[in-house]
Amino acid sequence: MAKKQFKAESKRLLDLMVNSIYTHKEIFLRELISNASDAEDKLAYKALTDDQVPVDRSQLKITIVPNKELRTLTVSDNGVGMSKEDLESNLGTIARSGSFQFKQDLAQGEKPEDIDVIGQFGVGFYSAFMVADHVSVLSKAYGSDQAFLWQSDGADGYTITECEKDAPGTDVIMHIKANEDGEDYDQYLETYKLQELIKKYSDYIRYPIVMEVDDYRQKPKPEDAGEDYKPEWETVKEWKTINSMVPLWQRPKAQVTAEEYNNFYKEKFMDWQDPLAVIHTSAEGAVTYKAMLYIPSKAPYDFYTREYEKGLQLYSSGVLIMDKCADLLPDHFRFVRGVVDSADFSLNISREVLQHNRQLTVIAKALEKKIKGELVKIQKEEPEKYETFWSAFGNQIKYGVVADYGTHKEMLQDLLLFWSSKEGKNTTLQAYKDRMPEDQPYYYYACGESVDKIAKLPQVERILDKGYEILYCTEDVDDFVMQALGEIDGKKFMSATAEDALPQTEEEKKASEEKAEAGKPVLEAVKEALGDKVKEVRISKILKSGAVCLSADGPVSLEMERYMRKLEGGEHMTAQRVLELNADSAPYAALKKAVEAGDKETVEKYAKLLYGQALLLAELPLEDPAEYAQLVCSLMV
Ligand code: ADP
Repeated sequence: MAKKQFKAESKRLLDLMVNSIYTHKEIFLRELISNASDAEDKLAYKALTDDQVPVDRSQLKITIVPNKELRTLTVSDNGVGMSKEDLESNLGTIARSGSFQFKQDLAQGEKPEDIDVIGQFGVGFYSAFMVADHVSVLSKAYGSDQAFLWQSDGADGYTITECEKDAPGTDVIMHIKANEDGEDYDQYLETYKLQELIKKYSDYIRYPIVMEVDDYRQKPKPEDAGEDYKPEWETVKEWKTINSMVPLWQRPKAQVTAEEYNNFYKEKFMDWQDPLAVIHTSAEGAVTYKAMLYIPSKAPYDFYTREYEKGLQLYSSGVLIMDKCADLLPDHFRFVRGVVDSADFSLNISREVLQHNRQLTVIAKALEKKIKGELVKIQKEEPEKYETFWSAFGNQIKYGVVADYGTHKEMLQDLLLFWSSKEGKNTTLQAYKDRMPEDQPYYYYACGESVDKIAKLPQVERILDKGYEILYCTEDVDDFVMQALGEIDGKKFMSATAEDALPQTEEEKKASEEKAEAGKPVLEAVKEALGDKVKEVRISKILKSGAVCLSADGPVSLEMERYMRKLEGGEHMTAQRVLELNADSAPYAALKKAVEAGDKETVEKYAKLLYGQALLLAELPLEDPAEYAQLVCSLMV
C-alpha cells in the first residue's frame, strides 16, 4: 500500500523530532498521557450532554504497558477514539495551533535546529518519535464499528489500514529506539522509570493511570504452619494506579487537613521538616488559577548560594508544564516553594513565551501580595513563629530592600525586624515608631558586630540618655538597608554615630564652637602627629563619657568599610577617617598639657594611643599592633 506523505510542515517537524537534540525526551510520556486524558474528557463530556451515550465515568482510565521482548511501550485510553478521518487530519498534519507559528519561523530563515520545537508548538503526539522509531496508533471512534491502524516510521509518511479493536478508544504503540551514544532508551521500558515519570509529570491527571507492577509481599501463612514457621515472601504482579489524580490544591481548603498539606510539602519539595505556613489560594476572572504556596521553616543548605534555584511548579489543568517557573516569584520571596495551576496556559508554552506572558505577570503580582499578607499575619498573630521565619530568611528580605535601587522597599519594610535597645528583643519599624517620643527627630540605628558591642559604643550613649531608642544592627547588609530605606513618612534614618545625629540647640551650638576654637592648637598638633592617617581631628559633639572615637566623612561609612574588608579580594574601600576627641575628658587634659609644654614626643605618643583606641572601638584593625602595644606598656613604666 502506498504511503501517504505528511503535509509539508509536518514533515519538517517530524524530521526535527526524530533527530531531536532536545534534552527532555522523557516528556513524550506526559504528552501522550495528556492526549489520552483529553480523549477521556471528550467522552465524559459526550455522556454528560447526550443521554444516548451511556458511559460510566468510573471506568475511564489510561493504561501503560511496557514490553521488553517486543521493545514496545503502549499508552492506551478508553476515550472517544478516532475515526479514519480523525487519524488523517489529526496525525497527518501537525496540530493546527502550532503550524502557523512554525511556518512563520521557518519563513524568517531560522535554522530548524535553533528552534525549541517542543516549547513552541503543539507537537504533543509527535514527541513519540523522539524515543520511538516506529509508532502505531490503533483507534476506534466511539459509536463506530470499524477500527483503524495508523502507522509511521517517522518522516517518510504514514499508512492507515482497517483493523480489529474491541472497545472504543486508542492505543499508541511505540517501538522504542535502540540505545545510542549517550542516549538511554531502554529506560522507557522499565516499570520503575515509567512510574517515576508518571509521578513527576502526570500525577494529577484526573483519570487513573494504571500499570502492572511488582508487589513484594508475605505469602499467607499456611493453616498447618508449625511453631518454627518462617514467613515467606513472593513477588506478585498487580495492577496499580500510579497517579494520585486529585491535586491537593484543587480541593476545597476546608477538606484538606494540616497533615495532608505538610506531607505534600515534604514529599514534593524534599524537606524533612514541616513548613512554617501554607497559603492555599485561588482566583477567578481575568486570570484563573489555583496556587498552593509554602514558606519553609528553615533555609535549605544551599539557599544563600548560586546553586539555589527559585521558582514555583507550573501546572496547566493538572499537567506539569514547568518545574521551576522563576517568573512567578520575586527574588525577595525566593524561599517560597509551591505550585500554581492555571488552565490559561497551553501545555507547550515555552520559557521564552512565558516570560513575556501577561497572565503570568498578573499571577506573580497577586502571589507576591498574598505572601506578604501571610507574613504580616504571622508577624502579628504568632510572633514566635515569625522569629523562626526571620532567622531563616530575614537576610533575604533585607537584600530585597537593597536590591534594584530600593524599588521594593515599600513592599518589604513592614516585614523587617531589628534589635531594639529599649525592648531587648526584635522589633518592627512600626512598633518602634509607635514608641517614639514626640520630640525624637529620627529613626536611630547603630551598626556593629554584636548587640553587646554596639551598646557600648561611645556615640550610642548620648542618644540613649535622651530616652531615644536605637535599632542595633549586626548584619553586614544592615547599613545598606538603612541607606536604602532612607526615610519613612518623612522621618529619616540616622546612624547614631553621625555627628549631627542629635540636633543641637543654639546654646549647645555656641558652646561647641567655643570648645572647637579653644581646642585648635591641640587638634593641629594631633593632626600633625598622625599625618595622612586621618582626614581631620576635631572636638567631639557626640562623646559623653568616652575620650575618643572615630567617625567617617564622605560617602563611605565605617560600617561599609568593615563590610568590604570581610569580602574576598583584598581591595577595599576605606572610609575617610575623622578622629574625635572629648574635650571634657581626662586624657584630653593630659594631651593639652603636653601640647602647651611643647613636648612633641609625648604629643605624638598620646595621639597614636588615642587613634589606636579609636580604631579598636570601631572594630577596625590597628595599623601597627606592635607599636601600639609598646605605647600602652610604656605608660606603665
Ligand atoms: P494537541 O494535543 O496539542 O492538539 P497532538 O499532536 O498531541 O496535538 O494531537 C493532535 C490531535 O490528535 C488531538 O488534538 C486529538 O484530536 C487527536 N488525538 C491525539 N491523541 C489522541 C487520543 N489518544 N485519543 C483521541 N484523539 C487523540
